Amino acid sequence: MTQAKTPAAFLARLCAVLCAVLLFFTACGQSAQQNGQAYSAATMAMDTLVTQEAYGPAAQDAMRQVNLALAAYEDRLSLYKEGSDIQRVNAAAGQGGAEVTPETAALLRQTLSLSAQSEGAFAASIAPLTLAWGITSDTPRIVPQAELDTLLPLVDDAAVVINGNHVTLPKQGMGFDLGGIAKGAACSIAAQIYEEHGVESAYINIGGNVYAKGTKPDGKPFRIGFADPDRPNGAYIATFSLTDAVVAVSGGYERYAEIDGQRYIHIIDPRTGKPAESDIRTVGVIREDGAEADFYSTTLFVWGKQRALQFMRQGGAAILLDKEGNLYVSESLRDSFVLNEEATGYTLHYVAAEGGNR
Ligand code: AMP
Ligand code: MG
Repeated sequence: MTQAKTPAAFLARLCAVLCAVLLFFTACGQSAQQNGQAYSAATMAMDTLVTQEAYGPAAQDAMRQVNLALAAYEDRLSLYKEGSDIQRVNAAAGQGGAEVTPETAALLRQTLSLSAQSEGAFAASIAPLTLAWGITSDTPRIVPQAELDTLLPLVDDAAVVINGNHVTLPKQGMGFDLGGIAKGAACSIAAQIYEEHGVESAYINIGGNVYAKGTKPDGKPFRIGFADPDRPNGAYIATFSLTDAVVAVSGGYERYAEIDGQRYIHIIDPRTGKPAESDIRTVGVIREDGAEADFYSTTLFVWGKQRALQFMRQGGAAILLDKEGNLYVSESLRDSFVLNEEATGYTLHYVAAEGGNR
């Protein structure tokens, strides 16, 4: 997801992107725009680019706090950070578990209760599989079936025990990987910080997971671009308005590894242990709660088109592009949804909710 831009503004955004990448994790560029009220910031967190745009006197301070909060959040939740809550819980699997911060315990509780609704498509305890495949690492590999057979029983969200802030993974070798929910949940952390600072108008993009608070000061809503998987670097298929909600996107095209000429995507089907074979190209889910949006984007991708369309007919707001170029859009988004004229070859279908939207 990207915020839709004019060419000049797109170039400005691109500069911010390049700066952030060059300056790496320490980068935090902030610049007041001409009217003195709009501010933007770019940094790296959770292995991805984070851009913010906020308005009003408290904007800069709020964005700084957001960047600090995201760094602390990553330190707690990353599977790859030494001493993170997640690493400690994973290391203590089968050995009595470990104590985590109340925030981590709360997110794990929420994730597990969502995961229980995924019909086996989403697993917070997917780490044994994601680590074995290493799709997002420097050393991806094809995991042989015999190894998958030993790993699959370790992916078992129902077996997790959370007692207060004590989290136990009962079997050795089990492990959490919150990559499927973390960036969306982080959007809601930003939302809370904007709120606490009295910022009424703000936008944050955490690696394609976007939250927009309120409208721009001129009363116009933030316009979000639905990224075009065939034309990377900011091109979008369509735009839509987003207000006080998060849109999270999942797709096989953004993160994958190529091994022996074949593509392996980073979303794993917990039922097979292999990269998900979905008939969905990319799917965005819009929800007030960021963790929910992110959870559903991953889940809908693994579910595949038919089950995902059922979710939309049940009132879930989503934008779904299948592998044949069909673009399914929830009726609730129709008023603000605009196809990009340059993005040809897509067939647009609106999906109505049976019995109203939620
Ligand atoms: P997303 O980009 O939100 O769809 O999340 C993908 C990330 O979630 C991967 O990089 C893994 O860290 C993790 N993941 C992969 N497959 C699953 C799954 N089936 N359930 C939960 N998390 C997953
Ligand atoms: Mg997700």
